[in-house]
Amino acid sequence: MTCVICKTGNCKPGKTHFSTFVKDAFVVVKNVAASICGNCGEAYYDTTTVDHIQKQVEQAYNNTEEVEVMKV
Ligand SMILES: [Zn+2]
Repeated sequence: MTCVICKTGNCKPGKTHFSTFVKDAFVVVKNVAASICGNCGEAYYDTTTVDHIQKQVEQAYNNTEEVEVMKV
């Protein structure tokens, strides 16, 4: 698959860190399976992975009011 961001890179399966802000917290989910662009590094996640990430992020947020790092 060709990257939709840079339109030149090829995306290959790999692992990346997903990070996001949830209200007042910054949540990082480590070692997330994704397709990663070899050119710009943009990561693409499948729907199953996105569901999983969202659950991890919710759990992390509910367990702390500060920074949390989750491993999947
Ligand atoms: Zn790209």
